[in-house]
Amino acid sequence: MDLYEYQGKELFRRHGIPVSDGRLAISPQGAEAAARELGGAVVVKAQVLTGGRGKAGGIKLAEGPDEAAERARDILGLDIRGHVVRKLWVEKASDIAREYYLSLTFDRGEKKPLFMFTREGGIEIEEVAARDPAAIVRLHVDPFEGYQPWHGRRLVFGAGVSDPGEQKQIQHIAARLYECFVSCDSMLCEINPLVVTPDGEVRALDAKVTVDDNALDRHPDIAEMRDLEAYPPEERAAREKGVVYVKLDGEVGVLGNGAGLSMSTVDVVTFAGGRPANFCDLGGGGDAQGVVDALEVITADPQVRSILFNIFGGITRCDEVARGILQALEQMSIELPIVVRLDGTNAEEGRRLLAEAAPPNLYVEPTMLDAAKRAVELAA
Ligand code: GDP
Ligand code: MN
Repeated sequence: MDLYEYQGKELFRRHGIPVSDGRLAISPQGAEAAARELGGAVVVKAQVLTGGRGKAGGIKLAEGPDEAAERARDILGLDIRGHVVRKLWVEKASDIAREYYLSLTFDRGEKKPLFMFTREGGIEIEEVAARDPAAIVRLHVDPFEGYQPWHGRRLVFGAGVSDPGEQKQIQHIAARLYECFVSCDSMLCEINPLVVTPDGEVRALDAKVTVDDNALDRHPDIAEMRDLEAYPPEERAAREKGVVYVKLDGEVGVLGNGAGLSMSTVDVVTFAGGRPANFCDLGGGGDAQGVVDALEVITADPQVRSILFNIFGGITRCDEVARGILQALEQMSIELPIVVRLDGTNAEEGRRLLAEAAPPNLYVEPTMLDAAKRAVELAA
């Protein structure tokens, strides 16, 4: 789960990483009030789950409350690479002498957290890596050993930070960042830029934090930060109904039971010359209600032109899935063609049920490939 900047900064603040004082706003009036409370110059920042907001016009300085309202008007509603701005973070503006970069990610290959630090901050780290890889200090932390003061020293001296005051503050921030990373079950904690003010104060001006979804039940406070409105409606519905669903951008709605079979179905649709609209896993149950829920989610995507059910009955019984499909067709008016391939436990019974009911938009195919070809043809 990706956090907004203001949420990441809240976690930083709790762990003792210096951030600027700020307020959340959802309207120009709110931004104005926030600027008035904060006093002085502020920066108005689009809160969207994507980077590069500065370049896209989503980050603007304002001298005071009136200008903050104006900048809020410019930024609210802006579309930043498909993310529409609905929230703003208004914080005290910082004077910047230098921009550094500090992050911790999880290096799966090494099975260790990885620090990256460079004095070339404020731009994408990929850009620095491509242009001047030697400018980036990379340092793993052994999770059993944990953070040690020498890690901080290696980072600052490796990157050539010569000012003792900066060295001290950055080492402190690195230690706190490690603690934040581990205690939040984070996959990424990135500070870009980590700024040095003209007074020599070091502070996190941006926060990009990703938390491991599988650890969220250990962190109810972070789980609560999830912003359901940031997801497309069908993904929101899927989450509410507990349907495993990933939106893709084709036309053939895909539904399988089990992640492996669902992924193979996505591949077979592609092999048959079509483009899958989604990945949807009915799971091991595949009862009637599960089928209804999944169909509701898939048909909420306006790009879907046909639906392909690929069911291999094991624990899931094909007759149960067939009943689910028929029940769904009774409950909802689905006009889209539905292609079904049933195999495994009670497949014959399932096929018989479908043949007896024979809804006009239902096609039963004997194999996975035949079914995919038919679904692709019907989507054309
Ligand atoms: P991003 O573009 O999405 O990474 O957003 P950032 O929060 O990193 O902001 C982008 C850039 O805006 C930063 O690199 C800074 O140069 C600038 N910026 C952000 N906050 C301030 C501020 O308080 N004062 C000044 N002068 N510039 C800022
Ligand atoms: Mn940034």
